[in-house]
Amino acid sequence: MKDRINHRGYRGKLRAKGKVQSARNELLPQVAHRFALTSLLFAACLCVLCGENSFAQTQPHQPPPPDKRIQYRIDLSLDYANRKYTGSERVRWVNRGDRSTGTLIFHLYSNARVPGYVAPKQADEPRLEIVEVKSAESEAPLPFTLEEDNTILRVNLRQDVQPQNSGEVLIKFRGEVPEIDPDETGLVAHVMQQVSAAIGGARELRRPRDTNFMCRGVMLLGTWYPVLAARDGEEWLRRVDPGIGDATVADVADYEVNVDASQGTSIFTPVESKQVATQTGRAISTFVAENLRDFAVVAGSNMTSEERVISGIKIRSIYRREHEVAAKRALNIASNAVTVYIRRLGALPLRMISLIDAPLVTTLSNAEFSGFAAIASAFYVNFDSPAVSSMPDIIREQRASVEESLEWTVAHVVAHQWWGTMVGSDPSREPVLDESLANWSALVYYRETYGEQKADIALDEQLRGVYKLYRTFGGEDLEANLPAKFYRNTFQYSAIVTGKGALMFEALRKLLGNEKFFAALHSYYDVNRFEIADLDDLRSAFAASASVAERRSVSRTFDRWLLAKHGDEDIAPPDPKLAAELGLPTRDPKNGRNVFSRVGKFFWQQMTRIR
Ligand SMILES: [Zn+2]
Repeated sequence: MKDRINHRGYRGKLRAKGKVQSARNELLPQVAHRFALTSLLFAACLCVLCGENSFAQTQPHQPPPPDKRIQYRIDLSLDYANRKYTGSERVRWVNRGDRSTGTLIFHLYSNARVPGYVAPKQADEPRLEIVEVKSAESEAPLPFTLEEDNTILRVNLRQDVQPQNSGEVLIKFRGEVPEIDPDETGLVAHVMQQVSAAIGGARELRRPRDTNFMCRGVMLLGTWYPVLAARDGEEWLRRVDPGIGDATVADVADYEVNVDASQGTSIFTPVESKQVATQTGRAISTFVAENLRDFAVVAGSNMTSEERVISGIKIRSIYRREHEVAAKRALNIASNAVTVYIRRLGALPLRMISLIDAPLVTTLSNAEFSGFAAIASAFYVNFDSPAVSSMPDIIREQRASVEESLEWTVAHVVAHQWWGTMVGSDPSREPVLDESLANWSALVYYRETYGEQKADIALDEQLRGVYKLYRTFGGEDLEANLPAKFYRNTFQYSAIVTGKGALMFEALRKLLGNEKFFAALHSYYDVNRFEIADLDDLRSAFAASASVAERRSVSRTFDRWLLAKHGDEDIAPPDPKLAAELGLPTRDPKNGRNVFSRVGKFFWQQMTRIR
């Protein structure tokens, strides 16, 4: 629980933002100063709006100049047919701290295994192997060690990197991804798994195979290369806890990636290829991108895409042809969501956002990366197609629910480009900063696109409803900002973090009113862009926007929703009528079928939600 109260990002950021502090006790006046400064700047903004241009407007935080940024130059050679790849990366790390260091730490996320994992004969997890590490300057081999069951690569440099200087290394690696059984990725499988998590309370853990796999002709490489660990002041953030949420956290970096693959294999990344050179039977595509936190790659044999430009950002929907109808719908939703978020949350300095129809396994309905979001193919259902007629009635009857849910999910994953990509955070330690905020942002999309009435229905169904069902099934109320490892499964995580956590933002909006609320959110976004924020940053932004009289209530609202258990009063208590209707309590997931036959409409609506 200690992790909950940490101030590491804040301290690191003060440095990064040029406010160097050596002693922690000097932070307090600094915080006060920052409140005052932000308030002043905010006041200045209002003045500008009133036509008094005597104060400068607050400027959004900018990334460092290109030569002071972390940079990856990667050559990736794909053996699509055999689900393997080799790669070499030249990584430039910039020391933004105050002390020199001679060690670089990389995460090899693909090698993480859940506790007690026993490898089956047929590999079912991805693998990332280090072949060689060299100095980029001298090309001399560098000593390195693999730690924590091959999930950490520690490289010892020959010379320390001084503050504000950079060090470069060359790393050769190879990897492979498992083939996933298509049966694990269908809509029925997804729904059955949700039911079993609800009834049996099964423990779920995110696995590397969830985002690194081949299935139905789609190869997703989510964490395929050694990734520099993020820095917290003078320390590397090296710990990774298995949990139900996303585990990756990284500083922004520039990328130049060359992907060499057989001709006829389509390659998609967060940006479009700058050029494609061909050799016999092979094509080399070059991708160049700035300020991303990761670089996902998708390779596919039967994929196509459609796109649209909104405010200079290309929105792209990538799909397999049989999912054209849902993919076009997703493109429309994403385009509208980007328009709303730019207006309400702030400008997005990305060139492109891609949505991909990916056959994700049960327990995972979407996965977000920088400029890139995967949504489970299971939910790209065209209810008018002949294929759907073979699905169980009980699922076909849920058409409205599944379609509504896809809309909410697209709005949610698009919002992650603001909360997760631009404003970084550590999702395994403070999931509220990306998960809850992205989910609440989807509500903003509803409100701005359809008006209050439909937004209220969405609020009830997508946020309150999940919590209520979870409590009706006997799930206990929890604090909404625990480290992700404390949540048992997707059901619990959706109810508490994505549901209750998001509702805190509604409570804050009601408390402060739209003007102050969005000013606070804007300020949080502007100040923390390109950085890694923590909860204190969010709280500070809201405190700064509130009047002195309101500050205490703001603080109490944060505490009430994130650190206490008032969900039953604030959201909804368990519903005895629903429980009776469901025939609860039942503890045996094998009896799911019996429960199915008795369940009410509400249950099914909730169970066919994309989570
Ligand atoms: Zn999310």
